[in-house]
Amino acid sequence: MESADDVTEDIREPLLRPADGGPLPEFRPGRHITRAEADAPGTTRAYSLTGAARSDALGAYRLAVRRIDGGVFSPVVHRGLTAGARRLVTVPSGLFAIPVDHDQPVVLLAAGVGITPFLGHLETPASTGGSVPEVVPHHGNRNRRTHPFADRLRKLDEAIARLTVIDHYSRPDAEDVIGVHYSAFGRVTAEHIDEELIRRRARFYIRGPQAMIDAVTAGLTASRRPEVRHLR
Ligand SMILES: Cc1cc2nc3c(=O)[nH]c(=O)nc-3n(C[C@H](O)[C@H](O)[C@H](O)COP(=O)(O)OP(=O)(O)OC[C@H]3O[C@@H](n4cnc5c(N)ncnc54)[C@H](O)[C@@H]3O)c2cc1C
Repeated sequence: MESADDVTEDIREPLLRPADGGPLPEFRPGRHITRAEADAPGTTRAYSLTGAARSDALGAYRLAVRRIDGGVFSPVVHRGLTAGARRLVTVPSGLFAIPVDHDQPVVLLAAGVGITPFLGHLETPASTGGSVPEVVPHHGNRNRRTHPFADRLRKLDEAIARLTVIDHYSRPDAEDVIGVHYSAFGRVTAEHIDEELIRRRARFYIRGPQAMIDAVTAGLTASRRPEVRHLR
């Protein structure tokens, strides 16, 4: 582990570089790596990769780990891992992969740290100059204190013309101003999705707690439109 930045009070972003210094395999945005502790090889956990997925010489992987108090794995990343620590990880894998080059609009729905695979999806064309469809991420958080990657997403929003980030706060602090620090009050729901994007056969990708995935999926599939297809 080369370094680890604190993103919020409970999310840390380690930067992992191969011990031999060689290049790393590229990956499709959305994919994850699996980490194993050397002293507990049966214990593995998956973490989505956050940074650009392609590069001339991909030298490091970034991931973001939310601390789950009482958890086996994530508290170790927050407490026990310091620069120079060596850990075994797999190559990127997984069924959840978001195509970078296509023509349909893309709607990304995430809660909290669920934004990680979408960050990689947006940072890949931003760094390689690939083509970007219209992308509308809806990101749900409690407030600014718990909002991960707000600055990175804001910079991407400024840099990518066809990107519109919509921030939802369910418990804004008194200093959080709607229209300035966030876009909508409450949780992310299917009702927030622009009808026009559904009509134009947007693709939907959802990451977050199961209750949120179920509610948004039910809202979309109940939306009477034959255009909405459901892939898990
Ligand atoms: C494909 C994939 C990608 C993932 N990407 C990320 C990522 O980018 N960042 C990230 O932080 N995590 C991610 N996860 C979740 C991660 O793999 C671990 O499950 C998580 O870090 C908890 O591990 P733990 O050992 O600390 O907790 P555990 O010891 O596994 O769980 C301890 C307790 O916490 C509960 N718990 C577990 N997960 C959660 C949760 N998310 N919220 C609330 N309670 C929970 C469990 O039910 C249990 O009661 C991903 C999971 C998958 C399958």
